[in-house]
Amino acid sequence: MLAIGAHPDDIEIGGGGLLLGLAGNDLRARYVVLTGTPERQEEARNAAHSFMPNADLTLDLFDLPEGRLPAAWGSVKEILEDVARSCSPDLIIAPSSEDAHQDHRTIGELVPTVFRDQLYLAYEIPKWDGDMSRPSMYVPLSASIAQRKVELLHKCFPSQRARDWWDDELFLGLARLRGMECRARYAEAFRCAKSVILPAAYGSGAPQERDL
Ligand SMILES: [Zn+2]
Repeated sequence: MLAIGAHPDDIEIGGGGLLLGLAGNDLRARYVVLTGTPERQEEARNAAHSFMPNADLTLDLFDLPEGRLPAAWGSVKEILEDVARSCSPDLIIAPSSEDAHQDHRTIGELVPTVFRDQLYLAYEIPKWDGDMSRPSMYVPLSASIAQRKVELLHKCFPSQRARDWWDDELFLGLARLRGMECRARYAEAFRCAKSVILPAAYGSGAPQERDL
């Protein structure tokens, strides 16, 4: 899988439960964060290893200017193109092109211009702008995974704990709401920005080989 974030903590807030769920399954993951001070990059590094403890993990941490990614459009595109040249993920999680935060939105607009034939799930991040939209994909989370996600958010991102919105109620409340929507206790929700279906997989016999 490929996980892309504008800022350290985006990937974990949006898809930390999914990462925890995938981490035990021979996961090979590429983890790319576009902005971050040295302190926050250290948090991102620690978080990636904490959320995907057994994964074969490649980290790419960049220091583009936070809050200014629209002006760094060319650099973002080059970074994503470099990633695309060196890996071919089955699954991409990244911000949404409909996200109200300019840095998230820039990445969400560029991902489908670089990655053409992958399952791309856009994660959601609660914010002051109130931009939550109607999700199309849900990943149910057990209570223990949901709790573990929140514990790791607090542990891995100490620089963010003083934010007035950063608390258990927000993270678990959103997960509970998304869980209710898919008849689970907790869930993470995504907007499916692209999915690729192989018709042969739905025929009478299982495909022997992916003939692409
Ligand atoms: Zn962010």
